[in-house]
Amino acid sequence: MAYLTLKNVNKIYPNGFHAVHDFNFEAEKGEFIVFVGPSGCGKSTTLRMIAGLEDISKGEFLINGQLANQWGPREREIAMVFQSYALYPNMTVYDNLAFGLSLQGIDEDVIDERVQKTAKILGLTDYLDRMPRALSGGQRQRVAVGRSIIRKVGIFLMDEPLSNLDAKQRVTMRSEITQIHRETGATTIYVTHDQTEAMTMADRIVVMKDGYVQQVGTPREVYFNPSNVFVAGFIGEPPMNFVRRTVSNGCIELGGHMLDLKKRLPKKIADYEGKEIIFGFRPEAGQLGENENAYPVTATVELTEMLGDNANVYVDIAGEKVIIKVSPHEIPQMDSEITFSIPVENVYLFDAQTENVI
Ligand code: ATP
Repeated sequence: MAYLTLKNVNKIYPNGFHAVHDFNFEAEKGEFIVFVGPSGCGKSTTLRMIAGLEDISKGEFLINGQLANQWGPREREIAMVFQSYALYPNMTVYDNLAFGLSLQGIDEDVIDERVQKTAKILGLTDYLDRMPRALSGGQRQRVAVGRSIIRKVGIFLMDEPLSNLDAKQRVTMRSEITQIHRETGATTIYVTHDQTEAMTMADRIVVMKDGYVQQVGTPREVYFNPSNVFVAGFIGEPPMNFVRRTVSNGCIELGGHMLDLKKRLPKKIADYEGKEIIFGFRPEAGQLGENENAYPVTATVELTEMLGDNANVYVDIAGEKVIIKVSPHEIPQMDSEITFSIPVENVYLFDAQTENVI
């Protein structure tokens, strides 16, 4: 049985705004789940319904198979870390960590043991006597995480916990949170708008847009088998390239070449004869030169970005802009005409009307 189940969960706010539509999802015990999507897509609303901070307008929320819609946040055995980590400013790190446990009337010795263990996991042992104002942003965020994990809950919810940190601290905390998850084994739901966080941290990702779940899958699944144009464009950096074309004799024209889509979709492409499709490929799929079993495209180089381990090449195909990723040793000249090729199996074709993968 799944540990957490959401069945057709909806949120309609009192002003009538329908923020979450028929959210269906199951999490197994111990999974690290990431809800990802652009601002306003309903991630926090869903998380808050799971936390019991927001009513579920319609649908069912189950913990261990038991209907939990009406349970209070405490009964749900949930701890939550928010974006603003609001530590108690007049308490030391030790007391910030211990406070929640003291309120529960837990024995001092037990509290001390748990504080020391939590501090060790989070690398805060040397800072236990400090006040929050004497800590860096990353250290403060660690204390906030510590305050949650010290409570030994079954479900750990995090809403954009790293958004106040700088880029470097975010990378460090990302791996620390993953490590903490491994050590505590708590079922975790983590909300972010950052696809890199989703890809690097999640066991499974829930991609959302406009209050609807777009796809649920492992990082590999959403990256390699995106269900629609939105997921394909949202996951991956730089994003997937898309061009719209009308199919004629099973082919489309792109960058001076006729690309035979029968090679990619031998049967299904016939259904799209005379219709528009969206042709997608990831920047890293582009290879300079022509290759066997790959679609050639000729284009003009507009801009190159040397990134160290690779380079982004921005090219123009008769007015359409795409990006390909190349090795730093083969960066083409600006304004030059190049031919690159896209292996047939690395091409994604989407229905232009539904935007779903064909
Ligand atoms: P962000 O990353 O910006 O926090 P989000 O995906 O977490 O975005 P939510 O905060 O869940 O999005 O909001 C989803 C939608 O519901 C938004 O359009 C928001 O304006 C709306 N919304 C949130 N709270 C309320 C409310 N109390 N009343 C009415 N609408 C609300």
